[in-house]
Amino acid sequence: QHTSPAQTEFYQAVEDVLDSLAPILEDDKRYQQHAIIERLVEPERQIMFRVPWLDDRGQIQVNKGYRIEFNSALGPYKGGLRFHPSVNASIIKFLGFEQIFKNALTGLAIGGGKGGANFDPKGKSDQEIMRFCQSFMTELYRHIGPNTDVPAGDIGVGTREIGYLFGQYKRIVNRFDGVLTGKSMLWGGSEARKQATGFGCVYFAQNMLEDRDQSIKGKTCLVSGSGNVAIYTMEKLYELGAKPVACSDSNGTIYHSQGIDLDLIKDLKERRHERLKVYLETHTDAEYTPREDYPEDGHSIWRYQADLAFPCATQNELTERDAQCLLENGCSAIAEGANMPSTQAAVDLFVEAGVAYGPGKAANAGGVATSQLEMAQNAGMRHWSFAEVDQRLQEIMRHIYCTSRDTAARYGSERNLVLGANIAGFKRVADAMIEQGLV
Ligand code: NDP
Repeated sequence: QHTSPAQTEFYQAVEDVLDSLAPILEDDKRYQQHAIIERLVEPERQIMFRVPWLDDRGQIQVNKGYRIEFNSALGPYKGGLRFHPSVNASIIKFLGFEQIFKNALTGLAIGGGKGGANFDPKGKSDQEIMRFCQSFMTELYRHIGPNTDVPAGDIGVGTREIGYLFGQYKRIVNRFDGVLTGKSMLWGGSEARKQATGFGCVYFAQNMLEDRDQSIKGKTCLVSGSGNVAIYTMEKLYELGAKPVACSDSNGTIYHSQGIDLDLIKDLKERRHERLKVYLETHTDAEYTPREDYPEDGHSIWRYQADLAFPCATQNELTERDAQCLLENGCSAIAEGANMPSTQAAVDLFVEAGVAYGPGKAANAGGVATSQLEMAQNAGMRHWSFAEVDQRLQEIMRHIYCTSRDTAARYGSERNLVLGANIAGFKRVADAMIEQGLV
């Protein structure tokens, strides 16, 4: 029942989960007796706040800040902060809701939350980013803590922003504690956290393919986005002998048949904060499609022929028609690095077609899992090696895959990882909620 002002993305995320739960609700009446669904869809706490800051011209700017603490049955609230002009209550709620199940699936002790602001980092100076982050933290600090709520990065929030946020937190509370993850390696960050979501997504795809007697090696891949998740998805694909031939940003898509030049992408995106179009200055043989020229019913990147697809940019970036084109062109596996990148109709097509389809809440959980490893290292005053963290990440992705597959098999269909991931995540949270009583 939709009773609040339209929160389209939130309803979409809730419907996706509810559609999967019929078999388990039928199987175990306790969940209805304890009103688990009614309690799950209502966040434990929602914080909305004003973020005033001064731009470089000395003018006052005001943005809306959010932190939604959705569910703490399994541990401290955990989930990223997103800085993007499209951020609103619906976006943060959908992300926070997804996060509950994703975090449960990792098997680790983390609850679900999400936050952010409708702030656009594009075109802002370093000083403006810093002032914004300081203002944002001046309200946020009172709600978070290493055992309460531990935010991380997401779209528009990387190591630089986490640094400014942490500096302000420490200044206010006068404590150096592990209240944020995705920190710099100089002062408490974990090895492999930067790579974790992308690497984890490829490990997930590897698990799906192995079960179908296929491998990543030699495969041609489409990877949307060109941010943190997309970059490290492409890096791992190259390492495993695959070839990413296309990537994108919010202005357009690059197709490069000989393989995307990843060093150039890192330079453009991680260091120079440039638009993707600049890629053409170095590679005149690549093809660039500006957003204005995308097909009306979808996105150019999914119209190229490839064996594997990795949506790694944003929500609803892969439409029903895009899904149809991927399938017609012989794409045999889709692993979602982004959160809810495929529309509901696209998901239905993948599931019906029986291709290997790894939904975001399973396939991109490597990021949050490694954030939990960062928390564990901070709490134990330890620093693990890259190889050690990467090894744990691989084990966690295997665990998530096997749990989703086996749960799907138990409740109807081994191939339907949407069903398996939703039911497995739900069961762990719901059982913990029942044990903790009516709160
Ligand atoms: P980044 O900000 O590093 O990169 C985001 C990329 O997506 C950029 O290329 C950006 O292009 C593009 N993009 C963002 N919004 C839009 C839009 N509305 N339309 C088209 N393209 C867009 O973010 P991340 O790589 O960290 O995040 C990407 C996705 O992965 C998100 O869905 C996020 O929630 C999810 N995720 C991230 C995790 C992490 O550890 N970082 C963990 C789990 C999931 P442009 O630069 O032009 O804006």
